[in-house]
Amino acid sequence: MQYQRSSALFKAAQNVIPGGVNSPVRAFKAVGGTPIFVERAKGAYLYDADGNKLIDYIASWGPMILGHAHEPVIDAVKSRADLGTSFGMPTALETQIAELAISMVPNIDKIRFVNSGTEACMSAVRLARGVTKREKIIKFSGCYHGHSDAFLIEAGSGAVTFGSPSSPGVTIGTAKDTLLAPYNNIEAVTQLFIEYPDEIAAIIIEPVAGNMGCIPPADGFLEGLRSLCDQYESLLIFDEVMTGFRLAKGGAQELLGIKADIVTFGKVLGGGLPVGAFAAKNDIMKYLAPEGPVYQAGTLSGNPLAMSAGLAMLQELNDNDQVFIRLATKTARLHEGLASILKDSKIPYQINRLGSMISLHFTENEVIDFETATSGNNKRFNKYFHGMLNEGIYLPPSAFESYFLNDALSIEDIDFTINAFKKVINTL
Ligand SMILES: *Cc1c(COP(=O)(O)O)cnc(C)c1O
Repeated sequence: MQYQRSSALFKAAQNVIPGGVNSPVRAFKAVGGTPIFVERAKGAYLYDADGNKLIDYIASWGPMILGHAHEPVIDAVKSRADLGTSFGMPTALETQIAELAISMVPNIDKIRFVNSGTEACMSAVRLARGVTKREKIIKFSGCYHGHSDAFLIEAGSGAVTFGSPSSPGVTIGTAKDTLLAPYNNIEAVTQLFIEYPDEIAAIIIEPVAGNMGCIPPADGFLEGLRSLCDQYESLLIFDEVMTGFRLAKGGAQELLGIKADIVTFGKVLGGGLPVGAFAAKNDIMKYLAPEGPVYQAGTLSGNPLAMSAGLAMLQELNDNDQVFIRLATKTARLHEGLASILKDSKIPYQINRLGSMISLHFTENEVIDFETATSGNNKRFNKYFHGMLNEGIYLPPSAFESYFLNDALSIEDIDFTINAFKKVINTL
């Protein structure tokens, strides 16, 4: 495939936008090569600036669960735009989408809308601190909760249990309040609670990790976190920005049968427009301004265009439970197809999958946490990525990202992908 035009567009972008992109993963730094500039998308397909058609396995990192330019969503946005695009005043639309979201998701009474997953997670942690009057949080290495300071923390070295900043600009003061544990390691979390029994406001976790490839929770792990939170009177925050309205109507809470105290959303909830949200039972949400003392606000929060896209998306999902079953079936078909080819090769591999989330790791280690996720052969992954791209298949441009299937993918698309892999594997 040719990428002359993308290449030229990238050059021009680099002159005026740092690194040429507005979010780092888009720059293809992990896999090398030229980032692809998109012109338009419809259903399961992306059409790029060079006129290539690509089968999309990212779905805008999750939101386009029903495929690109899904008509009910597009129609809702178009007709809403004619009425004005922002007022800084409440609209009935916000109540409508709140009522629907609350009816779909277990264990929530109230929901507050924001503009991104980052904002949702940042606000959820502030709320948890305000409710518990404690300052520390526990997060898991390799989980992503957006780019707010408290989350840009990596494991510290040696005996210290608190983290250190993973980005310049994050202060050591902030890092002190974020404790790190390996995903799926309940002993490490127990140890943190023993060390700081009265200081931990909340655990925040991706109930199914999607930002170090797909890593499902081990049996009993989330149950263990739930009971530690109950024992130490900390709050359990499920970051369902990825899994919410994707794994089931009610997200991971519903699929896995675990109750969280605060849940965050984004991605699918906005139907492709910038929306995030956080939600909880009323005894927690009542702490939020203007009802309570914990401050949180947003000029464009509850924006009518974004809310109309989100409402149309949720209505589609709510009216159509089969979507989640279909998605899981297609993902399983992809899994079986890739595995049957890999089995006959000498290439070590792991495939992790849950619902419509799946990732392929070139390692013999079972991938259960950040350490095992990073044990894969990156060179091989990069060849795989570019090989598949050359066959017209767009996978996440990093070994540490899950694929997110969309309902517009046909069985033929999946089989085309598997057949492409039959060719690509010979080059790995
Ligand atoms: C994408 C993501 C976020 C951040 O959402 P943005 O809208 O990119 O700010 C937070 N948590 C998880 C689990 C995510 O996948």
